[in-house]
Amino acid sequence: MKVISVLLIILATWLQLWAQTRRCEVGAQAPPVGFWTWPAGSQVKVYVVESDFQPSEVSSLLTPLASWNAVSELTGSRVKFEYAGTAASPKHCDNCLSIERGVVFDKQKRHLTELRAYGARSDRTLSWASIVIDPALTNPKALTDAVAHELGHNFGLFDCYSCKARSTVMNQFGRVNVANEMPGPTACDVAQVKAAYKQSALQATGTALLKNNPEQGEEPVDDDTPIVVPKP
Ligand SMILES: [Zn+2]
Repeated sequence: MKVISVLLIILATWLQLWAQTRRCEVGAQAPPVGFWTWPAGSQVKVYVVESDFQPSEVSSLLTPLASWNAVSELTGSRVKFEYAGTAASPKHCDNCLSIERGVVFDKQKRHLTELRAYGARSDRTLSWASIVIDPALTNPKALTDAVAHELGHNFGLFDCYSCKARSTVMNQFGRVNVANEMPGPTACDVAQVKAAYKQSALQATGTALLKNNPEQGEEPVDDDTPIVVPKP
């Protein structure tokens, strides 16, 4: 047991060094940042809408949660996902993430998933979010890669279609219902999420200094995948 712990620490340190030293150029190997994020240190409860998925599909949806949890400390987000079980409908509660099906297919963009999010605060942090997966997306590996990608949006990352293949979880999917072989964050994703959380910590300090800030949190974002929805 001790040997495993030591090995895990060595692996984590090695990943950290690798993330720091590897070249991560935005648009080439690294996605741009700027989307909303879960609040630092939050425990996010994840629900799967029961009637939308086959029981055999659920494990494909949950695999990326563990991949992102594994880099929680490295990114500085300290966000952890916890599977809370199936639900009859999407949950709109604080720090809740639902995974559901819905027709979101876009032929031109090969867009088969969508992130719907809501922020009640004025600091660009998420209150709740839904990952919406088109019924056409059924391949188990593609489901895993799609959820890993949408979770990237949850950490402030934008799509990076110009990024080299397999350099980021935010790569475009080459073909409909075919995995892009990116089931979890890369070193450049870790570096970019770290930057996003540093940025939001600075912004939060700035926001606290502003008096009478009229902004109430939600605002539309012009991106093909993540959408911050108006107050429900
Ligand atoms: Zn996307």
